[in-house]
Amino acid sequence: CGIVGYAGRRPALEVAVEGLGRLEYRGYDSAGIALVGDGGALTVEKRAGKLANLRSALAGRPAPRATTGIGHTRWATHGAPTDRNAHPHTDCRERIAVIHNGIIENFAVLRAELEGEGHKLLSETDTEVVAHLLEEFAADGLAEAMRRVCRRLEGAFTLLAVSVDEPGVVVGARRNSPLVVGRGDGENFLGSDVAAFIAYTRDAVELGQDQVVELRPSGVTITDFSGAPAGTRDYHVDWDA
Ligand code: GLU
Repeated sequence: CGIVGYAGRRPALEVAVEGLGRLEYRGYDSAGIALVGDGGALTVEKRAGKLANLRSALAGRPAPRATTGIGHTRWATHGAPTDRNAHPHTDCRERIAVIHNGIIENFAVLRAELEGEGHKLLSETDTEVVAHLLEEFAADGLAEAMRRVCRRLEGAFTLLAVSVDEPGVVVGARRNSPLVVGRGDGENFLGSDVAAFIAYTRDAVELGQDQVVELRPSGVTITDFSGAPAGTRDYHVDWDA
């Protein structure tokens, strides 16, 4: 029910957990994070229950050096609120991690197709198909893979993905569900609403319907699902957080 993304120079874990804390008011049943380490390793941690459960799971392991990451709070629609169904979800090779708010209505057809091709799906969520579809298109790079995947999805989604093949990049997409970019200096943010990054920046860009964003520390590139550059609306958040 809440989404945070970060590409910059700060510890991404802190930015993600801080952002998830600010999104707690929306209600949720599980929480998770994925980090791409500066050495290129993927760290995923996720837990059913409150953010405190995720925090204590994270406290039990050494914090990876990572300046790219995503965070998620889930409000389960498909699959019970368990650790396994919590987001992020990964592809077969555990090189790509995905978080999602919304509902992918045609997931059953996509899942059957992926399983027919040999993909092993581990959760009961509608979301996990996205990680495996991104894996199929991974050779195109993460942003183009996301555009190709989105063209196959029906329903409502805010999606974020990271890949060990592209440290420093977070890719986001939206249809019928919100996604906002926060612009920083040498760092950039994504959130399901501005509360996710209000502690760091008030310069925001609202993604339009059916758009994909490629977030890097140095800037953001926004296109439609076909890859054409997209018009965006910049604004300043002036309410008190
Ligand atoms: N439909 C997804 C799930 O049940 C995402 C739910 C959400 O918006 O948090 O896992």
